[in-house]
Amino acid sequence: MPPNRPDKIKVVIGTDVVTSKKRSEMMAGIKGKNTGPEMIIRRALFREGFRYRLHDKKLPGKPDLVLCKYNAVVLINGCFWHGHSCHLFKWPKSRPEFWRDKISDNKVRDVRNIAALTNSGWRILTIWECALKGKHRRSLDDVISKTSSFLLSDNSFRTIEYKSK
Ligand SMILES: [Zn+2]
Repeated sequence: MPPNRPDKIKVVIGTDVVTSKKRSEMMAGIKGKNTGPEMIIRRALFREGFRYRLHDKKLPGKPDLVLCKYNAVVLINGCFWHGHSCHLFKWPKSRPEFWRDKISDNKVRDVRNIAALTNSGWRILTIWECALKGKHRRSLDDVISKTSSFLLSDNSFRTIEYKSK
């Protein structure tokens, strides 16, 4: 189950039982930044010698990682928020219309951002949360080696997701 769903955590945020550091981490989670898979991938890429800018406001959709040297952006997508068709995605039982609109808006925005980035000449790697989380996850080495080979290639697109049998 995606950990950052606001309907699951807003109750906790409204109280003073968490420290302000913890609370700001949780708020960061709500905005979709500095989430688990993103931090894992960032750290691993940095270790491999790749350098990147984070959430560049000048680019459509503020891509998670921007690697100018490789003319590439990396989008690290939560499967719930971005409506991935995978085993991690489940419609919430409450407020179905709200979530249908929300997820559908997010998907439309993703398509628009990817088109705009492509038109500006950026190469795009999308890494889905399920690549690193859940029962069909890949090893981190696998994800990083696929990422690295995309960055060093001339390919325009690549997607890394859960391991299908
Ligand atoms: Zn997924």
